[in-house]
Amino acid sequence: MPALQEHLGSHDAPPSFRLDVQLHDLLKKSPAPRPILVPGRQPEAFPEPVFPQHPELMAQDDNYEANLAEARAGKRRWTAPLVYRAMNGWLFPYWKSRLLPGQFHPIIAYLFTEWKCNLDCHYCWAFDNTVKGMTEDVAKRSIDWLHSTTCRVLAFMGGEPLLRPQLVHKASYYAAKKGFWIYMPTNARLLRPDVIDRLADAGVAIFNFAVDVVDEKPGLPKALTPVRKYFDYLIRKQYKYGYAVFFNINICRNNHEDVKQLTEIAREHGIATDYHINESPMIEQEHFKHYEANDTFIHQQDWPKVDELIDWLIEKNQAGYKMVNSVKRLQDMKDFLRGKVEPWNCRAGQNSLIIRVDGTLAPCFPMYSATHDWGTIENHKLEVPQLNEMKKSCQTHCFSTLNHNLGFCYNDARVIKWVLQQAAHGFQGVTGSFA
Ligand code: SF4
Ligand code: SF4
Repeated sequence: MPALQEHLGSHDAPPSFRLDVQLHDLLKKSPAPRPILVPGRQPEAFPEPVFPQHPELMAQDDNYEANLAEARAGKRRWTAPLVYRAMNGWLFPYWKSRLLPGQFHPIIAYLFTEWKCNLDCHYCWAFDNTVKGMTEDVAKRSIDWLHSTTCRVLAFMGGEPLLRPQLVHKASYYAAKKGFWIYMPTNARLLRPDVIDRLADAGVAIFNFAVDVVDEKPGLPKALTPVRKYFDYLIRKQYKYGYAVFFNINICRNNHEDVKQLTEIAREHGIATDYHINESPMIEQEHFKHYEANDTFIHQQDWPKVDELIDWLIEKNQAGYKMVNSVKRLQDMKDFLRGKVEPWNCRAGQNSLIIRVDGTLAPCFPMYSATHDWGTIENHKLEVPQLNEMKKSCQTHCFSTLNHNLGFCYNDARVIKWVLQQAAHGFQGVTGSFA
């Protein structure tokens, strides 16, 4: 048990970090200071986005009910340009990454334009309101650098990316013009209809609508009720604009009924759900304020109840509810709760990476606060021997959904099967699970 855990009162309180102490110290006490991004000679700026590019898409959706019925039946239609957009974002980079020499072929990059947030979910260490957001110069140079690689999926990340809607509008517009498939996660508090129209018009492909509860609870402010009007507008406009929406739900100690209700609401509105198991931080986060008396962390005595909830979700998955998680991944959550994670084919640092607000790089989100030098945009130092050595330890503590899916992807037979399945259904399930 890590020494840092000792100050935590309850005997089964979650640890302040989950990594082995040796690796933790290596990553957090690295002698190399974080690298500094070499400034551009002239700070670069995005072009001013044209809005609206597609005024016809802003109009009322007269076919909404028919489209919704199709989506509920798992038969949402995608036009040829939207299918191409998805293939351009995911499939072509994947094949390139398999065929090109070398080891660094990113498919997805997480661009942390913010490390600030307008909420305070008690489990969340992924924000610090003292940290300045990414400059426009770094955001533009990041997209240009990614474009010079195989990467064509750009996921905004935070903190809350919509704290600066104009910046994400400009960046989305610019990236979409360069062929990126754009993923926008948000707690939706700032997802006003005019922001939805701008982002959708710019070409955002998917909204990750993060909610944990229906009505706010102490420690869980990401609730649907305060943003219900925005949700309704987002849902209503999705078929016309051609984006997808899914609920991102964190299973905590204190939201099991809400998880069920949100699952049913998603079903009713023909959208998918993605579940996570609440995790304590992978590495220690000095700015995290809720280590003590945290009602959201899952304790050992909660495992049977969480198992029941997972079984309920598996039943719904098997009954045809659209879920990003496969039945196998849902099953694996039970083992993860108990600290049992088999080594898996983590591709972080090779096929995915994060770009921090200052333009420095790390292989994955759990490593945001590591001080190890993985380089900067335009000058990466993501080296496979170091990553492999590190993953010998961190993989067995990690339940990163995205990187698990990428690991899955790197089994060619599975990808080919998945792509054929999607093609057979006219790409109706591009947001579906891999297995
Ligand atoms: S909204 Fe997201 S970034 Fe903000 S505190 Fe909650 S989980 Fe963290
Ligand atoms: S297993 Fe992969 S995604 Fe998880 S912490 Fe390690 S490098 Fe990051």
